[in-house]
Amino acid sequence: MAERPTRQQAEEAVRTLILWAGDDPSREGLRDTPARVARAYEEFFAGYGQDPAEILKRTFSEVEGYDEMIVMSDIRFESHCEHHMVPIIGKAHVGYLPDKRVVGISKLARLVEVYARRLQVQEKMTVQIADTLQEILQPRGVAVVIEAAHQCMTTRGVHKPGVGLITSRMVGAFREDPSTRREFLAVIGRSAGGKLPNT
Ligand SMILES: [Zn+2]
Repeated sequence: MAERPTRQQAEEAVRTLILWAGDDPSREGLRDTPARVARAYEEFFAGYGQDPAEILKRTFSEVEGYDEMIVMSDIRFESHCEHHMVPIIGKAHVGYLPDKRVVGISKLARLVEVYARRLQVQEKMTVQIADTLQEILQPRGVAVVIEAAHQCMTTRGVHKPGVGLITSRMVGAFREDPSTRREFLAVIGRSAGGKLPNT
């Protein structure tokens, strides 16, 4: 990977984009904008500095034989599309069937956040969340459904506002057993028919 530029270089790049947009970066309202954008980027893209495996490391194995589905639904996230660098806003539903080990429920939300705070493609993010959870926790299966609105579709081009994209990744029991998959979809409020959301 290329070397990380300095903050000063990053701010200079924002100044260039302001000029490119057609405005004057030295006018009062825009004078502090490059610094603000650089700070915002640190927040938007904090996921690059975080290791998802590290987040899931602490597992709880004493679950007294609990072997039913664990689902965390409606995990709100904000990401940025890697094609236009504009927001993708949506929610993720994450479920798994434990095999002796479970993780604290807040870890699922943090896992979503680590991948959301990077430049993303929704399909890729869905796979990353599911496969990381499967790989680290090794449950009997993982299911991830993400529904999101892409501002690159809603604010530019020919697309209509409010358009939503649904992606899913089913691993293990969720892929092989239709009744497990149905149960998960029912818990997150989706029919098994894979209907589109009413957004
Ligand atoms: Zn885009």
